[in-house]
Amino acid sequence: MPFTQHNGLRYFQFDSLHVRHAVFTRHGGVSPEPWASLNVGGTVGDVIERVRSNRLLSFEALGCDPRSIFDVWQVHSADVICADAPRNFDEPYQKADIILTDDPDVTLFMRFADCVPILVHDPVKSVVGIAHAGWMGTLRDVAGAMLDAMRARYGSHPKDVIACIGPSIGPDHYEVGEDVVARVGQTFGNDSSLMLPRQDGRVHFDLWKANQYLLERAGVNRIELAAICTACHTDDWFSHRAEKGKTGRFGALISLLSR
Ligand SMILES: [Zn+2]
Repeated sequence: MPFTQHNGLRYFQFDSLHVRHAVFTRHGGVSPEPWASLNVGGTVGDVIERVRSNRLLSFEALGCDPRSIFDVWQVHSADVICADAPRNFDEPYQKADIILTDDPDVTLFMRFADCVPILVHDPVKSVVGIAHAGWMGTLRDVAGAMLDAMRARYGSHPKDVIACIGPSIGPDHYEVGEDVVARVGQTFGNDSSLMLPRQDGRVHFDLWKANQYLLERAGVNRIELAAICTACHTDDWFSHRAEKGKTGRFGALISLLSR
């Protein structure tokens, strides 16, 4: 399995991404239950000093400068920010769920607990990106918006882009209600049945398949799926659904520096 241990931290890396990146498990941080232990979420009740320490430990594990961070206030949108420099700490967070950069001095960082992390690299135009797609972001086509922005801003061709779908809630654990089922139907039409598997008579939403579909529709054909369900493995991952909202957020980062 593509996991690495470093000073008690344990993180996942994709085989097909040859730039510096990681999706951090919950191991190796300083927070107590229910955020134990590497919680990087600042809005889940944990003390901000511990959240900051956990973020520093994460950056340190990968050899990234903590001041290189660019992160956003994630709001389940399909809005994009292209980061030309690290985040200005004097200014409030910008709201977005897709961030891109072509600057090797910038480390893109996001927080997750079941929602789908999408990490991308265009080795031809030297661009990296990260996106946050829960059911709302998926239905808003975060993947397509990301590829559109890469093309418009950096001249990326989707065929050059490597896209990776990270640890997130799997179809086995993601039962959804009629409202979500109806919206999946509206968005994906006849193809929606592929993403709505049934289990014991209940309908589940396959976020992995849906995001794979959206990436392919945007022209990406190099896609790696971690296929790790956060709700199946709460020993490793924070899961909003499996832990009934009382949990932390795990971090993911990517930069253009070499791995
Ligand atoms: Zn599961």
